[in-house]
Parts: sequence; C-alpha cells; structure tokens
Amino acid sequence: MSEQTQFTIEQFYKYINQGKLMGGKCKKCGKIHLPPRPLCDKCFSKEFEWTEIPRKGKLLTYTIIHVAPTQFQQMAPYAVGIVQLENDLKIPGMIREVAPEKIKIGMPLTIAFETSTATSQWPQWPRYYFKPA
Ligand SMILES: [Zn+2]
Repeated sequence: MSEQTQFTIEQFYKYINQGKLMGGKCKKCGKIHLPPRPLCDKCFSKEFEWTEIPRKGKLLTYTIIHVAPTQFQQMAPYAVGIVQLENDLKIPGMIREVAPEKIKIGMPLTIAFETSTATSQWPQWPRYYFKPA
C-alpha cells in the first residue's frame, strides 16, 4: 500500500503541506469526508479515493474564542467558524486576516495554508485556515 492510498490524518496534512486540501471520497456513496476517516459514516464502506476540496465557500456560523487552548493562546481572541464550500461540504476552521468585528455570516471566504510556526507542544503540521475571499 502506497502512502497515497492511506486515508489518514498524516496524509491529509502532507497534502496541505503541498498546498492541497484533500478529502476522502467514498467510492460507494460519494460522501466526502474531511478530514478523511477510515470508515464511511453513511454507508460504512472502507473504500475511498482522494478528492481535491474547493477553496471557496461562505461562512455559516462562527464563534470568537477568547480563552484558547494553550497552543493557540497567543492568537486569542480569534474566530472559529463553519464554512460551506462550493460543493456543499461544511468544514470547521479558524478565520484569520480579518478583524473579529468585521466577520459576518454569509461572507465569502477562501482557504489558505500556513506552514506551521506554532509552539513545540503542537505537532509541526501545516494547517489550513479561512481568510476573506
Ligand atoms: Zn459511503
């Protein structure tokens, strides 16, 4: 089994490191899992293929985090939201590069990537976040 065929969080982050947001698409029912998971929660199939996730979406809901987990403390307050992507997939993520008071439900957002600069307690994995489109 090659690394490309493993539907793991590690592979998911490897793709992000390459600037790609990839989900696991169920070969049986077509449901896209992001992040990927080993078992489809809709039809219980274990057969997946990688599919690239659209970068654009709109904000469905959000929360401003004031008291953050240790590894994000220096970023607080920050916003975390659920974004509905162009293919209707809804994914959670941090919203950055916009002042919290300017965040609005329905605003267009696009996915961006960072190379990890976080503290040593946090795995040195790249992360995705949302920024205004
Ligand atoms: Zn399925």
